[in-house]
Amino acid sequence: MRVLLIEDDRMIGAAVAQALKDAAYAVDWVTDGRTAIEATESEAYELVLLDLGLPKLDGREVLRRLRTQGCRLPVIIVTARDGVDDRIDGLDLGADDYLVKPFEIRELLARMRAVLRREGAGAPALLTNGSLTLDPATREASFLDRKAQLTAREFALLQALLARPAAILSRSELERQIYGWNEEIESNAIEFLIHTVRRKLGATVIRNVRGVGWMVDRPS
Ligand code: CA
Repeated sequence: MRVLLIEDDRMIGAAVAQALKDAAYAVDWVTDGRTAIEATESEAYELVLLDLGLPKLDGREVLRRLRTQGCRLPVIIVTARDGVDDRIDGLDLGADDYLVKPFEIRELLARMRAVLRREGAGAPALLTNGSLTLDPATREASFLDRKAQLTAREFALLQALLARPAAILSRSELERQIYGWNEEIESNAIEFLIHTVRRKLGATVIRNVRGVGWMVDRPS
């Protein structure tokens, strides 16, 4: 799941980017409003975290442009502006949630999960597909009679496959959903992740379609 982080404060940005990565999100981090708009035009995101005080283009203006262009991407404003008027303004401009700095990372992660659940129109807190179950809050997975704790990347891989059962995802599509822009990707990284997930949950959890990609079966 790919997230655009728009934050000009280096320390906050680095801390949030690392925390998101640890929580199995692919993160692209930009530090000004204009680059943020360009990023949303060139890349598909599942969620945006938006600071308001930004160079080049203010966060408020970024949000206004996204919404007037008809972009419905979920946006959480994360800002030091804590006035009631600022919150009302942000929500009325089309933000899905509003979090005031300083905040605890685990609250941000919980709000992200909540916004993504709403986006999935009442999707449950647990992700399931037949006998495969994933818990985004704990990164635990179960499949048939096995249970396992997944790493962030293993979780991101299964989450991407499970979001589209029976669809074959190519290596580049999986890389897009698992890795941010500035991350080095080893050529066999996806195969390695598939291997470790199968070792934990059983070989049949992911199907390989030779030369095309990988998939999870639709439950029968
Ligand atoms: Ca700022």
